Amino acid sequence: MGNKKIEVTLGVEIGGTTTVFGLVDSSGKCYVEEKIQTRPHESPEFLFDQLFTKFGEIYNQVSDKYDMIGIGIGAPSANYYKGTIENSSNLNWKYVNVVELVKKYWDLPTVITNDANAAALGESKFGNARGMKNFIQITLGTGLGSGIFVDGNIVYGHDGFAGEIGHMTVEKNGRSCGCGRKGCLETYASTSGLVRTVLELLSLYNDDSVLHEIAPNELTSKLIYRAAINGDTIANMAFEATGQKLGEALANVVACFSPEAIILSEGVALAGDLIVRPTKHHMELNLLNLFKSKVDILLSGMPRGDVAILGASALIWHELMLEKDKKKLAMINN
Ligand SMILES: [Zn+2]
Repeated sequence: MGNKKIEVTLGVEIGGTTTVFGLVDSSGKCYVEEKIQTRPHESPEFLFDQLFTKFGEIYNQVSDKYDMIGIGIGAPSANYYKGTIENSSNLNWKYVNVVELVKKYWDLPTVITNDANAAALGESKFGNARGMKNFIQITLGTGLGSGIFVDGNIVYGHDGFAGEIGHMTVEKNGRSCGCGRKGCLETYASTSGLVRTVLELLSLYNDDSVLHEIAPNELTSKLIYRAAINGDTIANMAFEATGQKLGEALANVVACFSPEAIILSEGVALAGDLIVRPTKHHMELNLLNLFKSKVDILLSGMPRGDVAILGASALIWHELMLEKDKKKLAMINN
């Protein structure tokens, strides 16, 4: 009997509080899924010791079935070119060469990128951007993360940090942003931005709104969503205003990259049509004529819960595929 092992990659996503990892095959099937606490105040060695001890125990039990061929890591402030995490605000690490560190535990091809780029790669390999060579992935969580895919590859820029759509200035002297500047897109289009918009609207309008009854520090995007679907005027105005800011900014982004679609995921995107409709409307209003009615706004096609692991795993699958293509090309040319 043939006993061929299934090729899998290890996807790891390092978050500020939790690090998740799992084994994923080339079709996006997740076989093993685990998590550990990140403890950002401990050293990176501490995290990887814990990670690979736990993973090693699991892999020992399944290594007769699976053949691990690479490791992909998504992390905040990760630099794809250097394999490093630099000055992350979520992790208290100044400068860590993650790829070098991983090699001490497992000598396999290892790649790292930031979480937004990993999400874009996940969408490209396993989600709604399958088959697309040009698209933009936008994560509308506490902040706004983005990954830009052009001609079949992520845009990293000369230093590895390209794709910070969330910090495009959309309002001169607007809301203050965590980056220290003012008026960044993510201060409007994110879960925290949505809450800020509702608080502003509540102070301006005395309309009947269930949101008046919630303490400002307890207001969440989920509560605003629930109010909106129940017909609350302020909540609906807030989604409209968020979609407007996002749509106007995306019209500019489209002029730069000509994507076939923009994919919205997580946080505010979970409101579905409540955010997609105004975003699409205001993007179309502001698009250069030659792009009108050509760019789709889609919701993520990734299974919720597995997004982080699938994204990180897609990163290394993508890299291995590029390597294969290069080898093929070299053979043809010889
Ligand atoms: Zn900013």
